Amino acid sequence: MSAQHDVVIIGGGAIGLWAAYYLKTRSSACRVAVVERDFAWTLASTPRASGGVRRLFACPENIELSNASIPVYQAFADLMEVDGEKPDIGFKKNGYLFIVPPAGVANLLHNFERQRRHGVNVEWLEPADLEKRFPSMRVDDLGAAVQSPDDGWLDPYSVLAALRRKTRALGVELIQDEVVALDRAGSLIDAVVLKSGARLRTDSVINAAGAWAPQICAMVSMAVPITPLRRYEHYFECQDPVEPLPYLKDVDRLAFRPEGKGYSGGVPTLNEPRGYNFEVDHGYFDEVVWPALAHRFPQFEKTKCKATLPGLYDQNDFDGNPIIGPWDDGGNDGCANFHLAAGFSGHGLMHAPACGRALSELLLNGRFETLDLARLGWRRVARGEPYPEQGII
Ligand SMILES: Cc1cc2nc3c(=O)[nH]c(=O)nc-3n(C[C@H](O)[C@H](O)[C@H](O)COP(=O)(O)OP(=O)(O)OC[C@H]3O[C@@H](n4cnc5c(N)ncnc54)[C@H](O)[C@@H]3O)c2cc1C
Repeated sequence: MSAQHDVVIIGGGAIGLWAAYYLKTRSSACRVAVVERDFAWTLASTPRASGGVRRLFACPENIELSNASIPVYQAFADLMEVDGEKPDIGFKKNGYLFIVPPAGVANLLHNFERQRRHGVNVEWLEPADLEKRFPSMRVDDLGAAVQSPDDGWLDPYSVLAALRRKTRALGVELIQDEVVALDRAGSLIDAVVLKSGARLRTDSVINAAGAWAPQICAMVSMAVPITPLRRYEHYFECQDPVEPLPYLKDVDRLAFRPEGKGYSGGVPTLNEPRGYNFEVDHGYFDEVVWPALAHRFPQFEKTKCKATLPGLYDQNDFDGNPIIGPWDDGGNDGCANFHLAAGFSGHGLMHAPACGRALSELLLNGRFETLDLARLGWRRVARGEPYPEQGII
């Protein structure tokens, strides 16, 4: 079997579905297929995400990706309406709070000023301000903090379920199957081959396979520095009351937020062997997360972890930023119609709407229009020029 598409998107997580949504809404005639091996997303990263959406970044592109994406999530119910039904993604505009020790103040200030220049609503807090606002928090070892009250969190699974319904209603072909090969003709890919035996002829391909993106790249002998990095999301409760908290992050990577009667979060680490590992080390919470929590809030002294969900970051070990755009290295090795949208290293959910829109511009009009993401393209990797995020990650 052979069908002709304008764009075949590999991977139906947040990145792939948002790209499909924008391609189809901006050009209804565009023949778009999303190939996803499991539309229940059993192992996909998106539904395992913490759901945080924030503008607190240092790279202008990341700030702008958030600036453009978060309002889309806030308007989600209206955008995703199908047959009069409006999905609820539980958006909580309860803010983000980055806290740093004295050694981190200069960098925090630099980023704070840049965020302000990009129009972000951010507040600078000294330890005394923090103490007043969050009386439970230990602040004597902190140098400063930045709060972004318009940021927050949402439910990632509900995002996917709504996007699946909406993209289908828009006419995107959702194919549950596994991509097993890419047929290359010279410097172009001309077909995507599926496990079922189907062959999808296409003008363009987007690799949105998240932590599995390097496997797709390997099908065209493209070596990418993206690796699967296990990271836990824990659910825990607190016996003693704590005042309402925003999503809190520190420079040692403690990151957590309120969830129901308790809290959701963890301490991701880069010191983790890379691989498709979904095992849970039940000692990790007690050894790493609990001490960090109890240090910051004495109320967490007696806390117990009630659940741990492992998931994979699509970690870009080159510089921690995504790779967005065609496999174009300025030489003869690439495939001009093979686009990457992977390596989000922990920020893919919050950046997916704007990334999807940017990809639609690139594929439909041949250039980025609303956001210039050229610096996040493959060329920086090909040239060995990392473009790292300097904020808290
Ligand atoms: C614990 C945890 C917490 C996180 N917290 C946040 C957060 O707070 N905020 C945030 O923005 N991000 C967060 N992230 C990161 C975020 O989850 C990812 O960056 C984002 O979900 C990536 O989306 P994706 O669509 O690229 O990947 P995925 O959601 O993994 O989708 C990729 C899809 O590709 C499919 N696929 C793979 N190979 C094939 C194939 N050969 N054929 C067909 N289909 C294939 C997979 O089945 C999968 O469904 C977190 C991640 C984890 C693990």
